[in-house]
Amino acid sequence: MAARLLDGVAVATAIRAEVAPAVAAFTAKMGRPPGLGIVLVGNDPASEVYVGSKLKSAGEAGLRADLQRLPAHASLADLMAVVDGLNRSDAHDGILVQSPLPDGMGADAERQVFDAVRADKDVDGFHPVNVGRLVQNRATLVACTPSGVIELLERSQIRIAGARAVVIGRSDIVGKPMALLLLHRHATVTICHSKTSNLPRVAAEADIVVAAIGRPGFVTRDFVKPGATVVDVGTTPVSDRAVVERLFAPGSKRLAAFAKRGQLVVGDVHPNVAEVAGALSPVPGGVGPLTIALLLRNTLLAAQARSQGR
Ligand code: NAP
Repeated sequence: MAARLLDGVAVATAIRAEVAPAVAAFTAKMGRPPGLGIVLVGNDPASEVYVGSKLKSAGEAGLRADLQRLPAHASLADLMAVVDGLNRSDAHDGILVQSPLPDGMGADAERQVFDAVRADKDVDGFHPVNVGRLVQNRATLVACTPSGVIELLERSQIRIAGARAVVIGRSDIVGKPMALLLLHRHATVTICHSKTSNLPRVAAEADIVVAAIGRPGFVTRDFVKPGATVVDVGTTPVSDRAVVERLFAPGSKRLAAFAKRGQLVVGDVHPNVAEVAGALSPVPGGVGPLTIALLLRNTLLAAQARSQGR
């Protein structure tokens, strides 16, 4: 039996419909919209696309969203100066520095920049204060992608409390906060990574599998207990025909799209998982739209908290 589709677009649309009137109410009360400052360094093509959709979505939600660009050769000090300006700005409630930063900024640049963003404007939820609050289950600003996964599960009536959950990937921005959010909702959580022994067997014990690794089609049907829920966070652009043909059947829509464009964004979950899973989020149309919806909601929450002096 084919897995039920976990429709990220529908859930994101519902969240955005909830955010818009609250943004309008904030604007009416405060005489200004909630403000989001986005900083983009360089011109990485994928980042350009992500930033473009964030700006468009923020505008549609009634937020003020400003983009500040720096050239790829900008120094870390240049970037810190922009962040400092946004930290001080009364018009900006949220700050987002688009990653990845150019390699030239240094290996530790991202961490330094995320640490420098004011915790109460940290709409990405990456600041150590917000991560600490998340550990203690009292965070307002939580990383958007894992929060989006929770919204997808809860609004799709997937039971989390009591479930065995396996999160594959342990990054600071997805895997770790994902595991904490599931834990706080009373799942029994296992985190897997590149050193996990016998990962397929560990994953196959789970009622909920969240894959966030960035390896196209890594999670195959032997990782999945029949009827389990599988959420695919992975988004990897692939231009190698052999990889695409390993994933998608001849005559499939995805293969046709690849033939047309020469590139495809693919998830971490192999399409054959749909034959065994009970519910599955697609790529595209799964977690991606939720990440943006949660960014809008975090900006609203940051604005509300700041206006109330919290
Ligand atoms: P990341 O920082 O590169 O972390 C990848 C994680 O996967 C690491 O913990 C790594 O383990 C683990 N991993 C890599 N290869 C593995 C393997 N063969 N077996 C088991 N674990 C393995 O990536 P990320 O930032 O978390 O992102 C993960 C994926 O999600 C990427 O495809 C990214 O594009 C996507 N993403 C999507 C959205 C969205 O909005 N849809 C948002 C954020 C990220 P180690 O720690 O042992 O190295």
